[in-house]
Amino acid sequence: MFGLYDKKVGLYIASHDPTGSIKTISALTDGEKVRFKFNWPAPNMSLEGNGYLLPGKVVLGSIKGNWYDAAMIYQAWVKDHAPWWPTTPNKRPSRIQDISIWAQHQGDPETVVPEVLKFAKYMGVPIGLHWYTWHQIPFDDDYPHYFPAKEGFIEGVRQLENAGVRVMPYINGRLWDADLEDFKSGGIKAATKNEKGEPYIENYGKHVRNAAMCPSTLIWQNKIKEIVLRLQQDFGTSGVYLDQITAASPKLCMDATHGHPLGGGSWWLDKGYYKLLSAIRDEMPEGAFLTSESNAEPYNHLLDGLLSWNSQFQDLKPIFSAIYGGRISIFGRYNPVGPDKHKALFMRAGQQLVFGEQIGWLSPSILQEKEPADFLRKMARTRHQLIDYFVDGQMLARPIVQGDIPDITSDWEWWEKPSEVTISALQRGTWQSKDGRIVKIFVNVSDKTIYFNIPNAESPNQGEISLAAYSIKLIRSD
Ligand SMILES: [Zn+2]
Repeated sequence: MFGLYDKKVGLYIASHDPTGSIKTISALTDGEKVRFKFNWPAPNMSLEGNGYLLPGKVVLGSIKGNWYDAAMIYQAWVKDHAPWWPTTPNKRPSRIQDISIWAQHQGDPETVVPEVLKFAKYMGVPIGLHWYTWHQIPFDDDYPHYFPAKEGFIEGVRQLENAGVRVMPYINGRLWDADLEDFKSGGIKAATKNEKGEPYIENYGKHVRNAAMCPSTLIWQNKIKEIVLRLQQDFGTSGVYLDQITAASPKLCMDATHGHPLGGGSWWLDKGYYKLLSAIRDEMPEGAFLTSESNAEPYNHLLDGLLSWNSQFQDLKPIFSAIYGGRISIFGRYNPVGPDKHKALFMRAGQQLVFGEQIGWLSPSILQEKEPADFLRKMARTRHQLIDYFVDGQMLARPIVQGDIPDITSDWEWWEKPSEVTISALQRGTWQSKDGRIVKIFVNVSDKTIYFNIPNAESPNQGEISLAAYSIKLIRSD
């Protein structure tokens, strides 16, 4: 979905495709004109006499308002027509929903467990732990041979879960190491392949050749299910993180033995990941959860959370949160820790709170830095207090304020250069609970006191308020 707007008028342009078929969408501008492009690779490409009818429509219209109004048009379509609108997915409510802050750690239980227990105690709210390299194989190598786990993993999980920490180990949801014997003898049948019949191989900088697996194959569906259920049932982890599923675009798999249309279409979902994820959900314990990386929307009915770490740029608009924030847990920003990184930590955490995200995704070593640790705790506890507005709630248009409100800039160290980000020092958001209550949230992410007014007309309860405006003084530590 795109929007293009100024203060007078806006344009809404979107693909309303209920099949979620693979497509690329792009916008290019030369400063005068904007070109929007939607490109659908056809299903059964390469077959003689093939025809193709576009699923759904591309919709173009004028709107009044801004990104939020455009998002609400798209949301209305999704609610009525898209199979991925999360109504009442099975196994919910899940233990991800009230997580207020995330720790991210890796390696041996003897280091991870005590540090995370300390972090949880300090925060005093439900926390999640995203646990990397809990397995004996190296990261991004020898997948999917995640077992055996490291020594003490099962005891560590039990200790953490008993203390209220929701443990979510990392696995990759789409890669098989192509140099392994069992890939050559069996896995290769289930790998995605190009027109020449060669597997699509990906390299993540470690000289490991990883094959992207085809989710339509029973081999891959059963492999992932076996790993996830073993973690949740035998090891007792609340969640499992399946890397890349919602980050990587579908491969145009041309292997005719897989039984799906060749190349494009919606089979990656309806004959692939929908089956793979549904089969896991049918058997996973009550309250357990599944998550993946980034935030491709058509998986939202079968996942419980999305690691949104790719979304942290200048001029970020919380469109995904506005549409889906009440229905799926959004968590995780890249948060390097260190004495020169406090300003960025304040900014990201404040923005996360008003965007309705779960806070953090960072090393428990943040506890060594008192000021940001205290601020993160404040954000986490505020989120916890306001949980009814976020879980099953709805983001509303953000509050209008008056005042001399400064901007704040720091380096967020994300990959798009320059990585300096400037945002308002007064982060603000409005959320509505399922029962209709409304909360306006204001966060001062700077070290200056901010004075501002909220005009009366903006108040949802204006009839009950006699003052012309609220006047607020906000200090970061308030
Ligand atoms: Zn295939």
